Amino acid sequence: MGGIGDLAEGFLRGLGGLALPDPVVRLGVTGLSRAGKTVFITSLVANLLERGRMVQFAPSGRIDSVLLQPQPDMTLPRFAYEDHLAALTGDAPHWPESTRAVSELRLSFRYRAEGMASVLGPRTLHLDIVDYPGEWLLDLSLLDKSYEDWAEATLSRIATRAEARDYLALARAEDGALDLDEPKAMELAARFTAYLQAARRAGWSDCTPGRFLLPGDLAGSPVLTFAPLPRPAMAGRGSLYAAMEARFQAYQAKVIRPFFQTHFARIDRQLVLIDLLGALDRGPQAVEDLRRTLAEVLGAFRPGRRGWLDLILGGKRVEKILFAATKADHLHHGQHARMTAITEALLADARARADFAGAETQALALASYRATVEEEIARAGAVLPAVKGRLSDGRLVAAYAGELPEDPSRILAPARQGAEGWMGAEYRMMDFLPARMTRRPGEGPAHIRLDRAADFLIGDLM
Ligand code: GDP
Repeated sequence: MGGIGDLAEGFLRGLGGLALPDPVVRLGVTGLSRAGKTVFITSLVANLLERGRMVQFAPSGRIDSVLLQPQPDMTLPRFAYEDHLAALTGDAPHWPESTRAVSELRLSFRYRAEGMASVLGPRTLHLDIVDYPGEWLLDLSLLDKSYEDWAEATLSRIATRAEARDYLALARAEDGALDLDEPKAMELAARFTAYLQAARRAGWSDCTPGRFLLPGDLAGSPVLTFAPLPRPAMAGRGSLYAAMEARFQAYQAKVIRPFFQTHFARIDRQLVLIDLLGALDRGPQAVEDLRRTLAEVLGAFRPGRRGWLDLILGGKRVEKILFAATKADHLHHGQHARMTAITEALLADARARADFAGAETQALALASYRATVEEEIARAGAVLPAVKGRLSDGRLVAAYAGELPEDPSRILAPARQGAEGWMGAEYRMMDFLPARMTRRPGEGPAHIRLDRAADFLIGDLM
């Protein structure tokens, strides 16, 4: 946007009052389940509607009005903004229901442009915010695999995971050459899903196929009734193995591809949220897993290397990607620079791994909805920079999450098996409810650096 394009547009308008359509920009918001997508979008929208806390969002002063518009995609669920905001700001504040599938919301900005373009008078920009599970994005890596390759790779990756023991025992006892027995296929799929759920709870990020965890409206359908099996010596037509293979292929063609075609292909700007503190708490293996996942996510945005996806995208590419570590309100601000440095190091690592030369990227640490206030607490003769919030039993508690390493390379060093995490012991009790907020007129919910995130993602458009 800007420069020659603006001049040309102005010229056209001046010539004959030619009505150009108002620009529409699609902002994708993704991240694995519980990364904080729902809370982020809710707070972002509330803060864009009331810009009193958007100091670092450069266009703030030139925006005359922001409106929520009817959702433009008739067949897509609308992001339940009002419900989510009511959950956060009601009499008994609680966290809203998390993202389960794709949803969308349109905000329209009326603003005064800067510089020469200002002579054109007020302008309109439509921002379509698209919320979708990161689990679905990771499915891109399944597209170029055969069932056999996927099954082999999965079985060997999970071979040493405690969470997979039950499924592996079942899969190894199975003879894929035998005729398909539907109850058996259903049991395999159910046990594999149970493994994926346990793996997610244990902090593993590489939990594909994504719809097994977040099925949307596909729960129970044959396209989700498969699981990785070792290849038998012979697998004829009608065998269990052949059925698994056919369903895997259907998952590729009928689930993964349509998602990328309909939603992903139209995204202009992208936010990827990560629960960095959660991974740091679980330890080196969870961090290693997170950085592998980030490289995979970045790979989905890397033009020229995505095979089938490049064909449907043509030359279109995502212009900007922001990686943001959420829930920074669990740390005293004295730790935020370290949290940002670790996020930046993870992004740099992912860029190197994904051999990436696509969009403009940035990393930062933020809190979408501040649940804490800072407080110094005395412990064993020392004064610690802590944060205070309300637990679900109603108690107000101050806790100290520990000190992050100053040098991110200590965190990104090769994983030490079974090593401890970096967060302090009190981090685990920080299950704070959203804070009851007193807001002055014109103010959105309190946050940390949400305005900086918005500025990077869309500030240049107005
Ligand atoms: P989603 O699955 O990505 O949609 O994740 P949600 O937005 O539902 O967030 C998951 C959980 O993370 C919430 O229920 C909160 O417990 C926590 N959370 C998200 N954002 C924040 C934040 O800004 N501050 C704090 N303290 N917790 C947050």
